[in-house]
Amino acid sequence: MNDIPFHHSLHVLDDLCKGCTHCMKRCPTQAIRIFGGKARIFSERCIDCGQCMAVCPNHAIEIEQDTFEQLQAYTYRVAIIPAVFFAQFSDTFTESQICRALYDLGFTHLYLAETGVDILNHLHVDEPNHTSMLISNYCPAVQRLIQIRYPVLLENMSRIRPPAQITALFARSELAEACDSIGIYYLTPCAAKIAQIKTLGSEDNNLFQGVINFDTAYNKIRTMLTKNKKSYEDDNTTTFFFPLCTAKASQWSLVKGQSSNKTGRTLSVDEMHNVIEFLEQLEQEEENNLDFLELDACAEGCPGGILTVRNRFLATERLRHWSKSLPSQLPEYLIKRIDKQKDILMENLYLETPQPKEILKLDLDRAKALHKLEKVQQILSVLPLIDCGLCGPPTCKALAEDIAKSEASIRQCVVLKLKDPKELNSLAKIWGERTIGSTVQKDDQA
Ligand code: SF4
Ligand code: SF4
Repeated sequence: MNDIPFHHSLHVLDDLCKGCTHCMKRCPTQAIRIFGGKARIFSERCIDCGQCMAVCPNHAIEIEQDTFEQLQAYTYRVAIIPAVFFAQFSDTFTESQICRALYDLGFTHLYLAETGVDILNHLHVDEPNHTSMLISNYCPAVQRLIQIRYPVLLENMSRIRPPAQITALFARSELAEACDSIGIYYLTPCAAKIAQIKTLGSEDNNLFQGVINFDTAYNKIRTMLTKNKKSYEDDNTTTFFFPLCTAKASQWSLVKGQSSNKTGRTLSVDEMHNVIEFLEQLEQEEENNLDFLELDACAEGCPGGILTVRNRFLATERLRHWSKSLPSQLPEYLIKRIDKQKDILMENLYLETPQPKEILKLDLDRAKALHKLEKVQQILSVLPLIDCGLCGPPTCKALAEDIAKSEASIRQCVVLKLKDPKELNSLAKIWGERTIGSTVQKDDQA
């Protein structure tokens, strides 16, 4: 599983892309280049954080997803719903009405992703053989970031399955007693989860048959609830079957939601640029005395996911407000259901340690990497160091690294071209032309 290449959920639409560089400047892993006036994503560097999609003013980055029609391939159609989905709606709509609409859209069973937190607590699951600082494995974009940029931290990552996976295991285990055609779909607030679920052979790919994006589900449900207001309001008299978790578990996807379930010294950092800044500085620290580190790619945690529709602060407030109506302990009937599946859950609690994908190195061979590093320094000494981004890469250093790896040419520097075209030709002869285009998602048209 660990050698499987990342699947990616985001793609540039050439027809709409204007080469404006907004996405390139925002990308936290420098995965985007502008070639031939169009954005290109270096797939090996992309962690599917979705920041590029969020800032594109031309809607030129599309995201993949499954459809509600695909559900019909299964007899039992299961939705695993993160609690923050309910917080996308204003108080006009009750959780019960939203659940009824999900049933009307084709799901036959609903589970809360955060029930997995309660299952893990109920089973008293401990981290296997761990003494140093533990890093949460909840956010898939952060996990990908650590795999490509901070591989030394991989041994600190939690090996306990994230709650949504535990809930999916639980759902399949209890439903398999009655049916062998089960499709489990995750409602996702972020691009990284789509990428994980669509990565063939991954744990998420084995557990989930598909994924429905928050914004799509929200728009459908809101239209249904608004158009058929009376009929859904009448159902307020009887509470529609509602999946359950405890008040504390319901806040798992908020900033500090995971930390508050841990003992010892904990720290939470949210928003990808903060996460990167923190991890860069962490490398310099001699010691940090932390027991648990919670890292969220999105600002405010999952309420800030790129597929959410609501102001993340209001969504956070609604989720906190709703959690006050949830029980502090799991009800007896749910404990009995969990205990019934205990054996299968206990056998599948842990994940393998993720493997590094050190693509940001100049070369895997140490001697060649040192040679390329020297080349980068030489190239940097002639570049203007103004990080204009007009050359295609986001910074002069990124251009120098691309040239050293034969993925770019010094000819791309617009400033040098204007200053001394002849000199540029001789530098291009020394440092070479771009020869590699295969690492980008589409062929380079430059
Ligand atoms: S932000 Fe990126 S994808 Fe969007 S138009 Fe600008 S260059 Fe193209
Ligand atoms: S999804 Fe994130 S890492 Fe990937 S290209 Fe977009 S901004 Fe960069």
